[in-house]
Amino acid sequence: MAGGAGFLGSHLCRRLLADGCSVICVDNLSTGRRNNLEDLAACRNFRFVHRDIVEEVGIHGDVEAVCNLASPASPSAYLARPVATLLTGSIGTRNLLELARQKGARYLLASTSEVYGDPQVHPQTEDYWGHVNPIGPRSSYDEAKRFAEALTTAYRETHGLDTKIARIFNTYGPGMQADDGRMVPTFFRQALAGEPMTVHGDGQQTRSLCFVDDTVEGLVRLLRSSHCGPVNIGNPHELSVRRVADVIRDLTGSRSQIISTPRMVDDPKVRCPDISLATEVLGWRPATSLEAGLRITAASLVRKPRPSPTPTALPVGQPCGP
Ligand code: NAD
Repeated sequence: MAGGAGFLGSHLCRRLLADGCSVICVDNLSTGRRNNLEDLAACRNFRFVHRDIVEEVGIHGDVEAVCNLASPASPSAYLARPVATLLTGSIGTRNLLELARQKGARYLLASTSEVYGDPQVHPQTEDYWGHVNPIGPRSSYDEAKRFAEALTTAYRETHGLDTKIARIFNTYGPGMQADDGRMVPTFFRQALAGEPMTVHGDGQQTRSLCFVDDTVEGLVRLLRSSHCGPVNIGNPHELSVRRVADVIRDLTGSRSQIISTPRMVDDPKVRCPDISLATEVLGWRPATSLEAGLRITAASLVRKPRPSPTPTALPVGQPCGP
């Protein structure tokens, strides 16, 4: 698992361990945190390797599946490191595809709804090619993922690799860093601190929010399916950014003001997955209501421990139960 110390990756590590798998997590800790994996430190079937996938990914022994979740994912993270984001999506993806080829392993790419850019088709179906500015500020992320999808497809066609592409839409849940700049943790942080809640523009742009357990279930089903994708994994319940702010303010009992800040360049105006394909081929659809998911997230943000400043390899220890 590349990127297993991140938000989504740490949940996927936990899920695979609970299913009885052994997991090797490779992560450079650029946006991920060691404390996301603290509960796995004593787990015999889990190993952490502090490594950048752009440099190398050599892993000894058999590997059944390579899951590529390594990439900065929040806009503040990829805007701060555009070159690293592009190299991770290109050279890092190549290195992981080569690993899968050498090991005869399945390969899962965590792609993104950002490949649709600021979409002109709504809701977004997998056959839509997208509307992306190749030199805009978001291009380091969007084009890295589009290249990663193309390279994954080329390995499938050239080398017969068993690949799967998941196009993940906005996911939220416990384990997100309160300061990582994404909408849900930002609104929670501001609401809980009684600070103004900042909405870009008029807040009428839409998003669809999927609870992390549902996204992980979709990824696991895709990994174990015979379908290569791309498959949209997201919640088709669409709501405005302003509405999300209102819901989080009500849920936290906050008296924060909701204020408008300048719109980000190339910020998508709408975002909503068509999940017919995932429902048909994976039997998957999200099961968690927004309110239930946000309550679980709120509880985790309140009790979140401080991040550990120095990355070191985690020890190998006891087996993990579900
Ligand atoms: P995250 O930033 O929390 O996790 C990404 C992880 O990748 C981090 O642990 C980071 O340290 C690691 N990483 C980055 N570059 C690396 C490199 N070169 N070598 C090794 N490790 C590296 O982000 P996330 O939300 O957990 O997203 C995980 C994946 O899912 C990403 O690929 C992202 O593009 C995709 N995705 C996430 C969402 C979402 O809403 N969370 C939506 C769409 C797609």
